[in-house]
Amino acid sequence: MTVTRSYIAGAWSSLHGEVVAITDATTSETIAKVSRDAVDYGSAFSYGRSVGGPALAELTFHQRADILKALARSLNAQKQVLYALSSHSGATNLDAAADVDGGIGALFSYAALGRSELPDSRWLLDGSTEVLSKQGNFVGQHLYSSMPGLAVQVNAFNFPVWGMLEKFAPAFLAGAPTLAKPATQTAYIAFECARQMIDSGHLPPGALQFACSPPDGLLNELGPQDFLSFTGSAATARLLRAHSNVVDNSVRFNAEADSLNCSILGPDATPDSEEFVLFVNEVAREITAKTGQKCTAIRRALVPSALIGAVTDALASRLARTIIGDPRLPEVRMGPLVSMKQRDDVRTAAVALSQAGRIAWGSLTHVEPVGADPTAGAFISPILIQVNDPARAEPHEIEAFGPVCSLIAYRDTADAIHLAARGAGSLVASIVTSDQSFGRLVVQGLAPWHGRILILDPRAAPESTGHGSPLPQLVHGGPGRAGGGEELGGLRAVRRHMQRTAVQASPDMLTAVLHPNGQAQS
Ligand code: NAP
Repeated sequence: MTVTRSYIAGAWSSLHGEVVAITDATTSETIAKVSRDAVDYGSAFSYGRSVGGPALAELTFHQRADILKALARSLNAQKQVLYALSSHSGATNLDAAADVDGGIGALFSYAALGRSELPDSRWLLDGSTEVLSKQGNFVGQHLYSSMPGLAVQVNAFNFPVWGMLEKFAPAFLAGAPTLAKPATQTAYIAFECARQMIDSGHLPPGALQFACSPPDGLLNELGPQDFLSFTGSAATARLLRAHSNVVDNSVRFNAEADSLNCSILGPDATPDSEEFVLFVNEVAREITAKTGQKCTAIRRALVPSALIGAVTDALASRLARTIIGDPRLPEVRMGPLVSMKQRDDVRTAAVALSQAGRIAWGSLTHVEPVGADPTAGAFISPILIQVNDPARAEPHEIEAFGPVCSLIAYRDTADAIHLAARGAGSLVASIVTSDQSFGRLVVQGLAPWHGRILILDPRAAPESTGHGSPLPQLVHGGPGRAGGGEELGGLRAVRRHMQRTAVQASPDMLTAVLHPNGQAQS
């Protein structure tokens, strides 16, 4: 059984206090104990600032990139342990791959970016030199420098590995030491990942601290050079954003919160078209992958009104073929939710959503899992709700964080855009169409409301990474309800952790300051 600990100020904590027992999502057996011991956040901040920051500042971008690559290789060699732990959370092998390999992939990706797109130096020039005077004796140059603070990363339960690594990698490359706080429910998986990273011996001292403990007092330590990034519910995001220390110190704050992502089937589709099949497959996959516990999952499927019956039937027959059960069995495609509490929350949200229509597929109470006792695990069937009145608030406002999707008919292009925007800001939208003018109008209408838009047509489909997969190269985040934040996006995430400063001087002085050894930096 895993017993989690914290890694603060260069040492693993010893266990002496209260623990929370975490149970297997399938069997309800206790499989981990998560420490509730208080962490001395004051020490964590002071160690990060006085040891981690300076150790990272010694390294150039290329040296940091090489460490990320070594870490990725080391995690890759031991990933089966993470897979085995993930199955306790209800994850099938495919679900675990999204989390574990997705996280390791983010490390590899930032390692490659650091080597290929950053200079072998400690700061980064931004744009070219601006001439600010008639004689040319006064010029200006923007540069990015590392900040002597901590990257404090508060993660959600659903991606314990990816969520931690996709935040850690750009912070590390930017020279910011990390203090990661996992969600309690899956902290045992994040703990194993952090343990492997620390035991690898690749990390400079203080570059990663791991706080497996209640967050009480964490935010009180934040100062003006720190960066707080958060993934989780909109309610917690609100609390963090409004914390007096965050407000008073203008602490950089990034939130990835919940989201009513949509997928839109274009008006060019017919029941026997390729686009129709692509749409049904994509929606069904997004409902069932990770048992719907993905921030990017399709919560609203928008279809032309003439096709609502055909899409309902096709989705119902696709979902009926989903094998639900013990995620350790190879034939199982959808495991249980992470916990009984999560199942209660999903059921409550699904009941509220069903007020707007009827349950066209699935059941709130009945499920027959393969190889598992339905009363012992947090099993739930996929649920498809056909919405009667698209104008109702529920489908656009209630996020059931599970395998639940609302099917909504739209009248025309303007109506589809209007309905999608009622999500009030989402992480991702997808459009399945070969109609280029429909694609253009919808992208125009939806871009301001979304962080990412996927247009799926038969040409892109065979190579598409799918609606629900954030990629290290592309931004992940969304406006409004989605938290208003932005993660990943290649080097954009590295720059976000650094301070941009405009330096003004004479050309000679600027050259001497920025290129002391005569080497060019970009
Ligand atoms: P949550 O309850 O908001 O918890 C998220 C994290 O915040 C956990 O680590 C939690 O710790 C911590 N936390 C709670 N209260 C805190 C406080 N007062 N100060 C500091 N930290 C605090 O969310 P969740 O239930 O784990 O995750 C599910 C939600 O996250 C869903 O709504 C989903 O849409 C959203 N999500 C969004 C994204 C995205 O990228 N946009 C990704 C994944 C999930 P404890 O666990 O110890 O309470």
